[in-house]
Amino acid sequence: MLFKKKDKITDSYDVIVIGSGLAGMTAANKLAKNGRKVLLLESHNKLGGFATWFRRQKGEHIFDISLHGFPVGMIKTCKKYWNKDIASRIRQVKRVRFINPQYQLETDFTKEHYTKLLIEHFKVEEEKVNAFFDELANMNFYDDQSMTNGELFEKYFPNRNDVTRFLLEPIVYANGSTLEDPAISYGIVFSNFMSKGVYIYQGGTDQLIGKMRDEMLENGVDIKLHTKIEKIVVEKEGDKEITKGVMIGDQFVEAKSVISNSNIHNTVLNMVGEEHFRQDFVEQTKKVRLNTSSCQVFMGIKKGEAIPDIGELVFYSEDETFSTDQVLSPKVGSQTFSVYYPEMREHLEGDRYAIVSSINARYEDWENLSEEEYLKQKKYNEEKALSTIEKLVPGIREKIDYVDSSTPLTVEKYTHHRKGASFGTKFEGLPISMNLHKEVDGLFHSGSVGIIMSGWLGAANYGVIQSHEVDNYLDRV
Ligand SMILES: Cc1cc2nc3c(=O)[nH]c(=O)nc-3n(C[C@H](O)[C@H](O)[C@H](O)COP(=O)(O)OP(=O)(O)OC[C@H]3O[C@@H](n4cnc5c(N)ncnc54)[C@H](O)[C@@H]3O)c2cc1C
Repeated sequence: MLFKKKDKITDSYDVIVIGSGLAGMTAANKLAKNGRKVLLLESHNKLGGFATWFRRQKGEHIFDISLHGFPVGMIKTCKKYWNKDIASRIRQVKRVRFINPQYQLETDFTKEHYTKLLIEHFKVEEEKVNAFFDELANMNFYDDQSMTNGELFEKYFPNRNDVTRFLLEPIVYANGSTLEDPAISYGIVFSNFMSKGVYIYQGGTDQLIGKMRDEMLENGVDIKLHTKIEKIVVEKEGDKEITKGVMIGDQFVEAKSVISNSNIHNTVLNMVGEEHFRQDFVEQTKKVRLNTSSCQVFMGIKKGEAIPDIGELVFYSEDETFSTDQVLSPKVGSQTFSVYYPEMREHLEGDRYAIVSSINARYEDWENLSEEEYLKQKKYNEEKALSTIEKLVPGIREKIDYVDSSTPLTVEKYTHHRKGASFGTKFEGLPISMNLHKEVDGLFHSGSVGIIMSGWLGAANYGVIQSHEVDNYLDRV
């Protein structure tokens, strides 16, 4: 059932899931399908976490936050762990474009077309290209953690900044990878995309999350929004730390297990508390680095106006050469535009277009600005997005009747992710997340960690992985 804001929860549960991101919801749904009694608690007034949207001007404009593209694997995940209807609405992004001083190219983002472009446009030897893709295909998560992205590109394409840009820039946007991160975090995500291109949910994030909510309710998940959890209750019994449930305000709700979809730092250090973990584990948790954040600019096209097809995903950069540092710079040399044409939401009345520009950003560049500086920087981002889109569609400014923007502080406010981290944690977050249940019986974590478990597909799949762990635990107890 869907609890109302003021409802008190009196039942006890097999599992309480804290947070309704794609990982939390997928885990909740899977466990409920398996016959477990599940309660899903979300602090926000809607489900989805980063998979979210907002409406403006009395619903005239609707904007998606993180619906830009994911790998084809999402179809299988949705078919298996959600339903066929959801899976059937996932379709390929038609035109992916790159516009920067080094090259202007269009691609379907598949291995076949990338291989062709690397050989024909970038003039890389065929054997090198094949060897690069072979290396990616043979990467093994458990053995290959020493090579960095920078080393990987130097190995196959020495001194080819343009090739590095072509291969890495989209993945910098997809999971925050830098040249210093382990190549495996790039290799897995890039290979996932290369298998069949970039995919998107046709119908918009609002429709998808609505369908996921209906599916969860049908499977018996109890859901309560407006519920921020500050405390996971853990008690020591003999030499074991055991999960007992959560506190909703001052009310205790009992559960045999808890999955936190909240940030891993927050889960270990605040919601559970250091005292319940080995000191070594606490120290390792404190060392986990967060990923970077993002800014976005939302542009709504006036009702009745139309724009030409300029591609669905446009990676646009003014930076002469590529560096992951520059992509994060507040100068905003690099932006990714997602263009939503009327087909995206065919169910809506009238032909509606929306454009969202995404910019990778550092929380540190925003956190200490005065109000005046903050608003000025936001205006700068908006102007940058408008002047760039004007280059792609001359005269578009007159057709835009709504502009707004978000910053790392907005991301932090709405998702409680420390420092507005868009893609969870760096690599070292993964073992902390996966080993939580070895520290405290019945305590699990799922959600963007270790770069590879981030993004819509990574998060949803990690929800499945952790739901297996929970099932095994519940079978034992
Ligand atoms: C700007 C942007 C663009 C992106 N674009 C893409 C894209 O195109 N493709 C892609 O695949 N991925 C994209 N991503 C990443 C992707 O959206 C996320 O990796 C994924 O949705 C994260 O899912 P999650 O399960 O980790 O949880 P999150 O989405 O982080 O959700 C966690 C939920 O837990 C709730 N919560 C946290 N703490 C508590 C608490 N104490 N009590 C109750 N509730 C709590 C939060 O409110 C939130 O709803 C993008 C991200 C950003 C920021």
